[in-house]
This record gives sequence, structure tokens and C-alpha cells, in this order.
Amino acid sequence: APSVCAPLPVLGRDVTVPLVTGGEVTYAALDYAASAPALQRVWDDVAAYAPYYGSVHRGAGYLSQLSTDLFENARRTVAEFLDCRDGDQVVFTRSTTDSLNLLAAALPAGCQVFVFETEHHAALLPWRDARVTYLDAPRSPRQAVETLERALADRAAHGPALVCVTGASNVTGELWPVRELAAAAHAHGARIVLDAAQLAPHHPVSVKDLDVDWVAFSGHKLYAPFGSGVLAGRADWLREAEPYLAGGGASRKVTRCTDGGVDVEWHDSAARHEAGSPNVIGAYALASACKALTETGFDTLVAREQYLVAKVREGLADVPQVRFLSLFGDDAPRVGVLSFVVEGWNSSHFAAALSAEYGIGVRDGLFCAHPLVRTLLGSDPQTQGECGAPEAAPGEKSLNAIRVSFGAGTPDEHVERFVRAVK
Ligand code: PMP
Repeated sequence: APSVCAPLPVLGRDVTVPLVTGGEVTYAALDYAASAPALQRVWDDVAAYAPYYGSVHRGAGYLSQLSTDLFENARRTVAEFLDCRDGDQVVFTRSTTDSLNLLAAALPAGCQVFVFETEHHAALLPWRDARVTYLDAPRSPRQAVETLERALADRAAHGPALVCVTGASNVTGELWPVRELAAAAHAHGARIVLDAAQLAPHHPVSVKDLDVDWVAFSGHKLYAPFGSGVLAGRADWLREAEPYLAGGGASRKVTRCTDGGVDVEWHDSAARHEAGSPNVIGAYALASACKALTETGFDTLVAREQYLVAKVREGLADVPQVRFLSLFGDDAPRVGVLSFVVEGWNSSHFAAALSAEYGIGVRDGLFCAHPLVRTLLGSDPQTQGECGAPEAAPGEKSLNAIRVSFGAGTPDEHVERFVRAVK
């Protein structure tokens, strides 16, 4: 087994926060699933580039040329990081949400979309203008594949279809059977987009090996919090679609036409969907993070994260009030994302106490995955568990949960402090 590497240097490790009990403590950032701290290396790369910052695709000056090169190199780095096929496009976006909305806007006419109800809202909601089939929460990876296969076999027309699925849940951290779901989609003539927001920071993602058509992820969860995201994959639907944003950079030629209007020829490349001045620092930072993770090696990163997951699970095994949430079973493979409820405790108060008394930052609530969390908590699917809803009375079911999440920069001490605090 690969050895457990040291945590990677990240920003914020020396930040201290006040405690209600008096004094202060170094902040334990255990909310990587929301946003991960910047890798020191990403920060250093950005700082080294900053004096050379210039406009991309828009200037004849040296610094504009340099910025254009760095931006296009970042695209190539991301394509390598994702092990893309020849001819795939890498579009820089603002985030996973932006990427999936872009794809939703590029669906061919009549496209049918299949999505599990367990998805993050960013993957659940963008398709609402299309014909969407929402699939019930599966209770095993195998059931996920069977559910999808049944739904695809039942589809009446055989026009274009898209499956959208997460690689790792932002609630349970569980890994989804992406390769098998992709095979099922393709066997029925559908395409598949992978929401890798929670997978890419923790696991290698190979477009070729998983055989997915598109991948979406966010820089700020991949240790590059500079406002960038990616949609990568097949060029055809993207090339045939109207540009996501209309404007400069997306247009190759604009002319006045004889009827007095304006005619536009759009680019066929990724630029088609990147109108406006691109976020070159964001793209550069994201590429720097991709390189740093690849150079460290996912084998050791995964080993370290599994060691921390085990520390949490084993550390809390003798606390019967703690119940971890899972769809596929407590022992299902997962990334460093764990949600739980504590019997007799209001989850929001519990999370607030972890912050105020121990300097630990976790998240509480429904994690932008309301249907999934309600299913996991066994609460009323229609009415209960609004964001910010009051917590259940003693003896009643929890209406929301607590999530602890970590990754490449997490030191042992943060996880040990968390276990101690919960106890
Ligand atoms: N998908 C998953 C699985 C996520 O965890 C998140 C972020 N919590 C998103 C999509 C959306 O990412 P972003 O907020 O960066 O758009």
C-alpha cells in the first residue's frame, strides 16, 4: 500500500480564531467539500505570475501574449489532468454550477435527461427546460446501475439523451459506479456528464477510462480558489449549440447584413462559450493545482485521506449517539466527506459549538442536496428540512445534518481535535 504522505502545504494553517471559552486556537478547516484552502504552491504560482498579468486573446503586447499562452497552456494541463480524448474541448467556466448550466443550454433539441434525485442541486436543477426523468435514490451501486438501465430501456423515443451523475457525493462522500453508469448510458444510446466537483480533488479522473462524455468540476474545491471551473468533453454538442454567452471572444466575424441587422459567425472552439475577457488567473491557478496533485501522486493522497477517514470512523465508533449517513452502507468506499447526526442534538447548534468552543469549521444543513438529505434522515420528502428550519424536538428525527470534510492539506491534529470535540 502507498505510504501516507504528509499534508500538502496550504494557506490558512496558522490562522487563529477566538474561542467563546477565552483565548484562541488555530482554525481547523474541516469544510473542504464546500471550498478547500489554496495550496501554497498555487498561491506561489499566482503571485509569480501576477506582475505579468494581461488580457487574453486581445492584445499585441508582450504581457498579453504571455497571458494568452498561459491561458491556453492551462487548458492543455486540464486536458491532461482529466486524460481527455483527442478532440475533446476544455471550456473554462466559473464553477461546476456554471459548467452544468452551460451543458444544459447546449442540449440538442428534444434531449431527454436522466438524473438521480440524490444529486447536488447544481446537477439536479439545470435541466428543467428539458424533458427530465428523476430517478429514485438507489441503495447500492448495483441498484444505481439497474435503476438507470430500466429508465433508459423504458424511454419511448430514441432521440438524444443525457445522464448526469456525481462521481462522489457531497453529502455522504460515497463513490458512485461511474464507469458502469457510463456503460449503461452508452448501451442505450445516451451520453453522460460526470459531476466531479467532489471527485476530482480526491481521486484521479480519466475521461477515457471512465468513458464519460463530459466532466465538470470547480477550482475552489481543488485547492485553487480563484473563481474558475471546467466543462471538458465532447466537442460536437458544444460546437453545434448557441454560445452560452454572446459577446467578444466567442465571435469570429460580425457583419451588418442587408436587412439592417447583424450577422455573427461564432467560433467552433471552446472560445464559443467563453465570451468576455477570461479569468486567466483562475484558469492558471486551477492548472497549477492540477499539476501539484498529479506530481504529488493520487496514490499517496488517497492513502492519506483514507487514513483520516478511518481516524474519524474509529474515533467515533464508541459514541452511539453519532449516526453517519450513507446510501450504500457504512463501509462503502468514500472520499473524505462524512455527514452525521448526533442523537439528542440540534445539528446547527452542534456545528456552532464546534466552531465557538474548538475553532473547528464544519457545515450543517441540507448541503444543497435537499432530496438526498431528507431521504437519508427519513424526513417527510415534501415539507420537512427547509434550509434554516428549526431543529427537531428531543426524541424526534433530525431535520438537518452536520458534515465534516477534509483533503490534501488536512493535518492529523484537525481530525483528532474534531473527534475529541464530538466526544
Ligand atoms: N456538485 C457537487 C457534488 C458539489 O459538491 C458542488 C458544491 N458543493 C457543486 C456541484 C457545485 O459546485 P460550485 O458551487 O463550485 O458550482
